[in-house]
Amino acid sequence: EEPPAAMAVPQAGDPGLTLLGRVGVVDPASLDDYRAHGGWTALRRAFELGPAGVIREVTDSGLVGRGGAAFPTGRKWQATASQPDHPHYLVCNADESEPGTFKDRVIMEGDPYALVEAMTIAGYATGAHHGYLYLRGEYPRAIQRMEHALAQARARGLLGADILGQGYAFDIEIRRGAGAYICGEETALFNSIEGYRGEPRSKPPFPVEKGLFGKPTVENNVETLVNVLPILTMGAPAYAAIGTPKSTGPKLYCVSGSVDRPGIYELPFGATLGELLTLAGVRDGLRAVLLGGAAGGFVRPDETDIPLTFEGTREAITTLGSGVVMAFDSSVPLPRLLLRIAEFFRDESCGQCVPCRVGTVRQEEALHRIAERTGAAAAEDIALLREVGRAMRDASICGLGQTAWNAVESAIDRLGAYE
Ligand code: NAD
Ligand code: SF4
Repeated sequence: EEPPAAMAVPQAGDPGLTLLGRVGVVDPASLDDYRAHGGWTALRRAFELGPAGVIREVTDSGLVGRGGAAFPTGRKWQATASQPDHPHYLVCNADESEPGTFKDRVIMEGDPYALVEAMTIAGYATGAHHGYLYLRGEYPRAIQRMEHALAQARARGLLGADILGQGYAFDIEIRRGAGAYICGEETALFNSIEGYRGEPRSKPPFPVEKGLFGKPTVENNVETLVNVLPILTMGAPAYAAIGTPKSTGPKLYCVSGSVDRPGIYELPFGATLGELLTLAGVRDGLRAVLLGGAAGGFVRPDETDIPLTFEGTREAITTLGSGVVMAFDSSVPLPRLLLRIAEFFRDESCGQCVPCRVGTVRQEEALHRIAERTGAAAAEDIALLREVGRAMRDASICGLGQTAWNAVESAIDRLGAYE
């Protein structure tokens, strides 16, 4: 199966890259090639530092979650490590499903041992002996490469009862997602692993206290975990010097849409949206950029000087989310685009809570009416959308319902989509 054009990795292999440096360079099937390109040095460093030392480095690095919510990773790890209840679990969320997101796929397909090493370090630091890799079912090549990497690591004593002779036991089990977007929500994902319907649980309690099988659990995104490797090999101060003081390190962006070179880009936090779009070869006639995916918001062409940082985007316009950047030129009819987003949320709502189950249907109906009138919106449609959107945001159990109105609201308020 050949990757689609959007899977091009224009910068892969550049030795200056922190996260993508090995992608397209190492043989993803060879543990020895991974070792020859610096593999397993971070794990050895972790064993020198000890679990508390690793958590200190991760905390000092300023690393925050790259799945979209930007929660401090060191805090999450410390909270789990200190729980008296056992066993502790590690879960890697590789159910990457946010429309326009494909960065975790590139890492797993191009540098699978990096994720094995990073998960082992996370398990060691937080006192887990069992890790789950919950992998999107629509990523067959990633599944095959990760399965192969796990088997090789096991055969070479890099997973199992006594890793590198250090007396630490850890293994990783792959669980395949079955196509439901909601199973990427961390607690729905636990339910899915446990064999129940993929429905989110109410938080708190947070997973660090009661997660998988009711036990303390660290759940991290693929990109978050692989950042731990450079943190340990270069040291927290050097890592924290990349990016900005509040958004440290490198970030992967998934650029698609009206650009000549769609793909994954790695840039330090703080680069502007305009710089990223220039690298990707943005085409003439840019109408809007959707930042943060379907749950994100639109940026206008005159606003592309915003710095891509968690604090910068949040204050300015919208959330950076997992790093989705979708460029739209004026050939894309906004009402159809918004309707498509609304269809997605209606389709993927798990139906567990009323605001989201009903709200996503009402939102789609209103956008249908508007699209049928070739984009002209009656005042009552807009009023209804706002009312339903507020209810979904305020009263939904999980992020899906809480964000299902974000893109539509921002298109109305910021792009004048229906004027
Ligand atoms: P959240 O803010 O509820 O939680 C973020 C993480 O921090 C979770 O792991 C949570 O358990 C932890 N956390 C929060 N408060 C805590 C506390 N007090 N103590 C301990 N841990 C705590 O966000 P979320 O609903 O998990 O994620 C929302 C994000 O997911 C959005 O930004 C969205 O863009 C993103 N998303 C990404 C994808 C993708 O494919 N990458 C898909 C859908 C959504
Ligand atoms: Fe399910 Fe939507 Fe409620 Fe989340 S907000 S629990 S997806 S119905």
